[in-house]
Amino acid sequence: MAELAPEGSQFDARQFDAKMNELLGDDGQEFFTSYDEVYDSFDAMGLQENLLRGIYAYGFEKPSAIQQRGIVPFIRGLDVIQQAQSGTGKTATFCSGILQQLDYSLVECQALVLAPTRELAQQIEKVMRALGDYLGVKVHTCVGGTLVREDKRILESGVHVVVGTPGRVFDMLRRQYLRPDSIRMFVLDEADEMLSKGFKDQIYDIFQLLPPKIQNTRDIIMREFRSGSSRVLITTDLLARGIDVQQVSLVINYDLPTQPENYLHRIGRSGRFGRKGVAINFVTREVEKMLLDIQKFYNVVVEELPANVADLLLD
Ligand code: ADP
Ligand code: MG
Repeated sequence: MAELAPEGSQFDARQFDAKMNELLGDDGQEFFTSYDEVYDSFDAMGLQENLLRGIYAYGFEKPSAIQQRGIVPFIRGLDVIQQAQSGTGKTATFCSGILQQLDYSLVECQALVLAPTRELAQQIEKVMRALGDYLGVKVHTCVGGTLVREDKRILESGVHVVVGTPGRVFDMLRRQYLRPDSIRMFVLDEADEMLSKGFKDQIYDIFQLLPPKIQNTRDIIMREFRSGSSRVLITTDLLARGIDVQQVSLVINYDLPTQPENYLHRIGRSGRFGRKGVAINFVTREVEKMLLDIQKFYNVVVEELPANVADLLLD
């Protein structure tokens, strides 16, 4: 199974291929994860009460090895590739992951699961329904050999999760019966099987119709910067306003903002809460005028970089 977290960077075909090659072992490298937390009970995973009820009611008492390791990273929204022998409980791993993350007040498709055969898709639907029984999950299976009209009707009535085979799912997306706007989770069950069976092009086509992954990479980068685990942030004006990290002491403008008012947004990132801040601007002769405009706009003098710039950074 491969979940490509829906809110990360835009889908990248090369990255996808690389992940799949890893999974299939084409590059001769073993895939391994650095995620080594093990939860030896479902209770310890921080799952919603109603999901736990569903899991226990289904008859599971203790998580299998893959469930002990696989559910929590999935819930955290990480991109995961999970491999384990047949019959080890991978279905319940991704079903629990999805069920935990759904927003039940939004009756729109938020998770898409692809499987290589109709029977498998139907089996997944059964597990999803059972585990999600107390959550009121709405699941629909889109597979070939059933009435398109019926799919349309059910999809339009609203579901949280769609499970299906690539052909029919693509058809539903293409006809816009299945709206991709809210899809945040994507699971490829039996990914090796799917890709070796020649579904790769179809899967790629489906991917093209899914929303681009903007809400996640940015969040992760900002979180790392805030926590100090990364100490340099390189950004466009996109983040210029929102950053409020007390420890920022230096802003370097690789180029000047085209709007003078953006200058303060940018350099205001440093020196917050009375701390000292320094801004350095790279200016070429051609844009000197812009620097003059900025100085006039704020009625300040921006001095030429002194030789002892390091001293400025010391409090
Ligand atoms: P996989 O996809 O890894 O091949 P499945 O998800 O189909 O395996 O699970 C195989 C069987 O194990 C199913 O009958 C499932 O109900 C059962 N199973 C899965 N997890 C547990 C568990 N934690 N406790 C008991 N039975 C389980
Ligand atoms: Mg399976």
